[in-house]
Amino acid sequence: MSMMVTTVTDQLGRFPAEMQTYFPFSPRPGQALMGREIYYGVMAKNHVAIEGAAGLGKTITCLSALLPICKQEGLILLYAARTHSQMQRVIEELTTINKRRGQKLTGISMYGRANMCPNAEVNEAQPTEAMELCSIFRKNKQCEWYENLKAQEIDEVRGCLTAEYIREFSLANRICPYYLGKELLPHCGVVAITYVYLIDPFIRSVFFNNLGRGIEQCVVVLDECHNLPELAMHAMSQGESDRALKNALKEYHRFDATGKYPLILHFLKHFLAYLVAIQEQNRDTKEDLEVGIEKAEIQKYLMEFVAQYSTDLYLLSTEIQRFGRQIRHLKIEAHQPPYSAVLRFGYFLEHFIKTFKDPQYLHYIILSQNRVQYYIRCIDCRSVLHPLTKAWSVVSMSGTLEPINAYLEICGFPAQTRRQVLPSPFDRKMVKVIAPRGIDVTYFRRTPEQYAHIMDQCLEVIQATPGNTAIFCASYEVLEGFLRTPLKREIQKLGRTFYAEKKDMPSRENDAMITKFKQDGYQGKGGVLVGVCGGRNSEGVDFPGAELYTAMILGVPLARMTHSINALIDYYTRQFGVWKGKEYAYTLPAFRRTNQAAGRPIRTLTDYGVIVLLDERYTYPYYRRFLSHWLNENMVIVENEPQVLAEEVARFYAKFEIPITKNKKKGV
Ligand code: SF4
Repeated sequence: MSMMVTTVTDQLGRFPAEMQTYFPFSPRPGQALMGREIYYGVMAKNHVAIEGAAGLGKTITCLSALLPICKQEGLILLYAARTHSQMQRVIEELTTINKRRGQKLTGISMYGRANMCPNAEVNEAQPTEAMELCSIFRKNKQCEWYENLKAQEIDEVRGCLTAEYIREFSLANRICPYYLGKELLPHCGVVAITYVYLIDPFIRSVFFNNLGRGIEQCVVVLDECHNLPELAMHAMSQGESDRALKNALKEYHRFDATGKYPLILHFLKHFLAYLVAIQEQNRDTKEDLEVGIEKAEIQKYLMEFVAQYSTDLYLLSTEIQRFGRQIRHLKIEAHQPPYSAVLRFGYFLEHFIKTFKDPQYLHYIILSQNRVQYYIRCIDCRSVLHPLTKAWSVVSMSGTLEPINAYLEICGFPAQTRRQVLPSPFDRKMVKVIAPRGIDVTYFRRTPEQYAHIMDQCLEVIQATPGNTAIFCASYEVLEGFLRTPLKREIQKLGRTFYAEKKDMPSRENDAMITKFKQDGYQGKGGVLVGVCGGRNSEGVDFPGAELYTAMILGVPLARMTHSINALIDYYTRQFGVWKGKEYAYTLPAFRRTNQAAGRPIRTLTDYGVIVLLDERYTYPYYRRFLSHWLNENMVIVENEPQVLAEEVARFYAKFEIPITKNKKKGV
């Protein structure tokens, strides 16, 4: 007996006629509503913000709504995504539209230089170093790939090209893939890019220059836009540690044998002495710690240096950068990696001077074991993102955007932005959310007894789940506490394979672990993955089909009340009002992490699964406001008693025939 996935398409109406010439399939639940919102919003030159669950087909719907407008108004569609695979999907969807709707759309996806360049030195360098290296090679006519490309002429692009295709094509023809992509840009109607092209002020201006258009002639799509504020603030933040300063000193001694720049040497030592003094004052601290700085104090300390050497800090930062560039040049000539610690400090000093009095930047010290760092954190992304609001329209989309007001305010996007929360496309029979009472993972309740009790609850759920299970902990601290229980041994006794994420696990090792875990799912072995909310596996990886059945969220992933979080709450309270300050700075980011982690097993409309929220706070009406619609709608609150969870989970899965050795779960 097979279960039909019910849709609500009929209730939601149809696409605008113009969209129908692009949309290549029969609309799925919610797509018509989404298409109409975007189409009519952008037609009226409004910005649009949409929350819609995964599995809705947001990319194809958004493209189909925007393409007729771009054609009519002569606009370029810029589609920003976080990962390369999301960018690739945009180009694949365009190709599908071309094939099934007979369109002649042109599109391209653009990666950064370091990802495209076939030259190993550039390939392995950091983005800024990669840019400088490439520029030196081109200036000195040392890049054969670039010289070959210059001999070609491009006057037309046909079809849709992924960055991978451009790279392969270029390698086969021995031309530079990165500059080929740049030359193709102005010929394409759709350009898929990573966020950095829109966030970093320098990269943004170069990008629009290459595009040959201003942002006002573009419609900008921000996919998975809940990441945008954090990405923008992160891009504008910078730190300098004692270790980096010691490396800069070593570099200085190596490259300034004649002592031409004594001032640079004195200043490096002066700044290092400041950091070391703070480290000394906090010598007895065991945990990682953030310490606020007294701005008047550091200003006085630096001014003493300025007076003693009759210099100026800004001139000094320019001088340090000039010396750093010389070092880099010498390293390149010697075929060494082009990184310069002196240059990095020069950039840091410039950023320090520019942001010192700016309330949008927080200056503080981070102390960790054997390390001290001066950190400049951007806490307000509105001025960085302001240029985006000049676009014809900005379409923000995410599966976890609510409350949309908060997103718009934090990004500084106009209040009149059209907004829509799409109804959940998931059949209620396909998802169950269970929240037991009485589980307390607040800071002072993280005792061995509490963890042992939670372990029993988790084992019940694992046993009742007919395939892969994941437990996403609120933080690494919770994960470590939880793993002090005999969880691993007990899981192995159940015949399940145990996988655990580690804080400093190299990406490759993590990827290999996730691949094995997913294979377990397909082979019916039923692995158990323990990870953290906000980590790479709870946000960046999808687990459709048999890859994951049950996801448990252990605790609420609220950030620790550090100096920077308190300062952020104060700042947001001043900017957005008393009620919103703490919510925007503290509560919302935590619940976004929960919503993201909880959504891992439910990626397509045929997926089904159970989400268990292991913290009583998830049952409180105040906190439930921050959970995604689909979690709230499907939530049952149960008593914290033995076998209750086991019965609830088993009853849910009993409805399904579980073909766990196949790629897709299927309802019966
Ligand atoms: S011109 Fe192209 S191939 Fe040459 S270094 Fe720059 S990015 Fe690499």
